[in-house]
Amino acid sequence: MITHVDSHIPFEACGLLAGHNSKVEAVLEVPNQAQSEVRFVMDPIEQLNAFEWIDANGMELIGIFHSHPTGPETVSQTDISEAAYAVAQVILARADDSHLWSVRCFWIEDGIYNEMVVEIC
Ligand SMILES: [Zn+2]
Repeated sequence: MITHVDSHIPFEACGLLAGHNSKVEAVLEVPNQAQSEVRFVMDPIEQLNAFEWIDANGMELIGIFHSHPTGPETVSQTDISEAAYAVAQVILARADDSHLWSVRCFWIEDGIYNEMVVEIC
């Protein structure tokens, strides 16, 4: 994930997280059609391909990740209004001149968001 989001600076990068029982086993990169520094729109065809790959491999969609190359560490208003799936939203954020990414996870539903605990193993 880090390599993927790093390679797309200054644009936001995004993708899907798949696996079983809330445990992520695969990271699928999806091109950001928006090519924007402040928002992401998953390429619909690539997103469909990713969903098909998840199905074909007997996995389920666990989360969506995207980067905030210039912050904030939390969900943006756009993220809240455009949240389309009831899945975990992982946000990788970075301060302007830093190469360190913070990873936080949120659940967005009906316009409100809550931070979730992520276990990295
Ligand atoms: Zn965002």
